[in-house]
Amino acid sequence: MRIILLGKQGSGKGTCAEFLCEKLKVPHISTGERFRELSQEGSELGNKIKNLIDAGNLVPDDVTINVLKDRLSKDDCKKGFILDGFPRNLDQAHVLEEVTDLDLVFVLNISDETAVKRLTSRRQCRGCLKIYNLITNPPKEDGKCSCGGELYQREDDKEEFIKKRLEIYKQEEEDLIEFYHAIIRTVDAEKPSSEIFKTLERFLSEFK
Ligand code: AMP
Repeated sequence: MRIILLGKQGSGKGTCAEFLCEKLKVPHISTGERFRELSQEGSELGNKIKNLIDAGNLVPDDVTINVLKDRLSKDDCKKGFILDGFPRNLDQAHVLEEVTDLDLVFVLNISDETAVKRLTSRRQCRGCLKIYNLITNPPKEDGKCSCGGELYQREDDKEEFIKKRLEIYKQEEEDLIEFYHAIIRTVDAEKPSSEIFKTLERFLSEFK
């Protein structure tokens, strides 16, 4: 299955992607995660990406599209994939259409208030990349992941950048929803994750 996850920052795309990947045995492709890896490499491109991400801006389409095409060309994507964070605009959606067919697009809906609340309390492990939420899913030990890694707050999850990221998302979302309207399934992502997973399972079983 080839699936795209759309939704505001903090809508749970990463969590849903993990659930779907486990269920469908396909890879999770997150352009944001790939950019965070690149931004730690210290290369000129990595530094440029880091500055853009930390300020809540998008990475230019040419860079993003190269990263995505490279990942989709790997063997493990032949049986499908869960795309999280791509496409972010219509140009990216058009490129994707040239490279692959798609089966479903899940839109995870949450309010702005929920997005801000979830993002400001999000922490990520520097080592294994596991994501915690200080309110709903806190680590056992303060500042530490279960793998022993250090937890940190993403620079772009700080309140001053969140508003900008949400605004950019809203500008693009409408176009993408229109573009994918025939294969869109909408999910109420305010609900607890157990209910969200059930909804995703129902959509998957209806598709088969
Ligand atoms: P995410 O983890 O999806 O929130 O992405 C983190 C950051 O990576 C975004 O704020 C952008 O700066 C960058 N990014 C991720 N995916 C894309 C994309 N498809 N197009 C442009 N920039 C992206």
